[in-house]
Amino acid sequence: MLIDGKPVCKRCLLLETDPEGLFKKVSELISLIPEDIKTPEEEYGRRLEICKSCDGLQNGICKECGCFVELRAATRKNYCPSAYHKW
Ligand code: SF4
Repeated sequence: MLIDGKPVCKRCLLLETDPEGLFKKVSELISLIPEDIKTPEEEYGRRLEICKSCDGLQNGICKECGCFVELRAATRKNYCPSAYHKW
């Protein structure tokens, strides 16, 4: 699908599309999150799998909140912003 002439990938993480090298920048931000507030690896993977099955995910961005889901999911206290609180 194209929006404004740019490809849009529904249910894709930045890791999988990364049209403008954003994943590297997001990864750098994730690496700066202190370990004591960072989401444990297993829970992080679980969150991203849920996002990947969600219609709200588009090019790595959640349509509910406008966040990069890989960044949002990386902090333990964060939660899915949808009314269903998927994670
Ligand atoms: S609504 Fe929740 S599950 Fe869906 S993309 Fe956003 S954060 Fe992920």
